[in-house]
Amino acid sequence: MTTRIGIIGAAGRMGQAVIAAIARRGDCQLSVAVVRPGSTTAPQGWHGIVPCTDLGTAFDAADVVIDFSSAAITQQVVDRARATGIPLVIGTTGLHPVAQENIRQAATTIPIFQAANMSLGVAVLQHLVREAAARLGPDWDVEILDIHHGLKKDVPSGTALSLGRAADEGRRHDGGALSLDRAGPRPAGGVGYAALRGGDVVGEHQVFFLGRGEQICLSHRATDRTIFAEGALQAALWLAKRAPGLYGMGDLIANFSQASQ
Ligand code: NAD
Repeated sequence: MTTRIGIIGAAGRMGQAVIAAIARRGDCQLSVAVVRPGSTTAPQGWHGIVPCTDLGTAFDAADVVIDFSSAAITQQVVDRARATGIPLVIGTTGLHPVAQENIRQAATTIPIFQAANMSLGVAVLQHLVREAAARLGPDWDVEILDIHHGLKKDVPSGTALSLGRAADEGRRHDGGALSLDRAGPRPAGGVGYAALRGGDVVGEHQVFFLGRGEQICLSHRATDRTIFAEGALQAALWLAKRAPGLYGMGDLIANFSQASQ
């Protein structure tokens, strides 16, 4: 059966990339493309789908909805998914803690997949960071640098924060985030963040473990946002058959490795 996919933020960089990814597959189809109210964009290649501006429509004609839009509307998106029972993939980052809590609650009644980074490579990097932090212990300082295009709104990136959480999990200690504009000696513990913004950089993350007399740097560079689009689409097709719950890339990867054994 062909899975019907609704996309919120369809005219954006990621929305367009997901639409292109759908066109490359035979097991799903674009059924609704939601764009920002007042948007005049009418991109090509939507296979006869007319863009609409009503969030609700995305859930009326889809088996699963993918959101790559704006943190400003995440609450509305999640409420609508909850009201209709339609599975939701959230790729949007920079969410307010209240919206994040809303997602956790909604996931008790509907399937939700959320990942600040939908690439397989970053999922593996998170695993490596957790492992390195566990083995190196609390004496090594962890600093994370993210580099993105100049139009990115959130800083640090959602991926940088998720890598910081992975380090905290590995160290079994949440020392909090060190301020981006800190000055003076570095306090012990915590995860430090730094960010560069400019040009058309798709996304780069470097996780530094800084010890005494030695350093380790684990890094990932995305050169094409197709990887996020393909990941989101795989997540959507997988999520459409899941029970209610909050899922992430770790669940998707575990599923793939089980399937290949
Ligand atoms: P973008 O600005 O190119 O696209 C966002 C789109 O959402 C725009 O077209 C905008 O008009 C639209 N939008 C805003 N409000 C809307 C509304 N009310 N209804 C419908 N559409 C609305 O941004 P992008 O680069 O595509 O990124 C989108 C989000 O996804 C950001 O939060 C970004 O950080 C995140 N992102 C996540 C991943 C991942 O792997 N999870 C990868 C890249 C980007």
